[in-house]
Parts: sequence; structure tokens; C-alpha cells
Amino acid sequence: MTGPARLTVLAGPTAVGKGTVSADIRQRYPSVWFSLSATTRPARPGEVDGVHYMFVSPERFDAMVADGEMLEWALVHGQHRYGTPRGPVDAQLARGVPVLLEIELQGARQVREKMPDARLVFLAPPSWDELVSRLVGRGTEDAAERERRLATARVEMAAEREFDHVVVNDDVRRATDEIVALMGVPVGPADGQAHAG
Ligand code: 5GP
Repeated sequence: MTGPARLTVLAGPTAVGKGTVSADIRQRYPSVWFSLSATTRPARPGEVDGVHYMFVSPERFDAMVADGEMLEWALVHGQHRYGTPRGPVDAQLARGVPVLLEIELQGARQVREKMPDARLVFLAPPSWDELVSRLVGRGTEDAAERERRLATARVEMAAEREFDHVVVNDDVRRATDEIVALMGVPVGPADGQAHAG
């Protein structure tokens, strides 16, 4: 690839399955580089610092924002802050590597402001009822947290029209292939092999 690559942002409502789609992209399309977000949220069981997130203190997060290190950042569900360190993103793009940010809506809007060239992809549920059942079915949050997330999801669903592309998450592999095709990455089982070694 010649010249800088375009940044792609994948956003969508809570529980739409961004995490599952991201995991599928990582596994089947290793040529896509995922930004590592910083967060003030404590690690969940099984999460590893430097792999899933950079888990930082609120003070460290403040310093990163003050130093202009964040491409975007947001307070999510009114609780914890999450942000994208800009340096590594710029470096990968300059090398022509396709970069994907898996972030929420407020962050997607900031990326649009700062990098008008960025491609914004909205991952949508097949229906609102399907989204609610996925949110409840996950069972990892208590009732109050679920309500908070539903409220956030309602606002996020209304933002669909701000995005360049809408991909419906009816089937993970299909949705993944549609996203990487938008990124200009060749679709198919050969990607991992082509970049091995
Ligand atoms: P979780 O706590 O479940 O890992 O993530 C909560 C939400 O934060 C998800 O919607 C996720 O997309 C979003 N998120 C993760 N990293 C970032 C980031 O760097 N910036 C923004 N704006 N949102 C993020």
C-alpha cells in the first residue's frame, strides 16, 4: 500500500456486538491494526493491561489529556473514561497500515472533527428488540447498570445517520467481511496466511 492509510472508526450502541465483531476481525484479518485504548475502568477478570486496554489511574488519564496525547476521549456510561492515544495511530497510518478504532459515539464524533478523512462505520442491531435481549441476555451487569446502558444505547441508535456506512450485525462473519471490505482489506480466508511470517 502506498501513502497513509485512512482511519476507520467502528462504533455502535451498547451490546450490539462490537466486541465479538472486533475479535473476529483480529482473528481472521491480522493485517488490521487495532488501537489500544487507555481507560480508568478497573480490569475485569481475564483482562490484561497492555492487551485489552491500558489500565491507567484518573491522574494519568488527566495528564494524557492535558499533554494532548488523546485523539479522542469520552466518559462512558457516566462512569469511567476511555481514550485513544494518538501517537501509535498516526504512526501506523503513516506506514499505510489499516487502523481500526472500536470506540463509542462521542469519541467517533471527535475523530470526525480532528480527522475529517476518517471512515465512520456504525454497527447496528437487526432490531431494537434484538438489542435489548442481547443486553439483558449478557447478564454481566446489574439492573442499574443495565438501565444506564439502555439509556446510552437509545441515544446512540439515533446517531446512525451521522455515519458513512451502516453494517447490520445479523451474522458476525458477514458483518466482519463487510467492515474489512470497506477498509480496503481483501476479504477471505487468505488474509492471515498472506501476512504470516
Ligand atoms: P467496556 O468497558 O465494555 O470495555 O467498554 C465500554 C465502551 O467504551 C464500549 O462502547 C467501547 O466501545 C468504548 N470504548 C473503548 N475504548 C474507547 C476509547 O478509546 N474511546 C472511546 N470514546 N470509547 C471507547
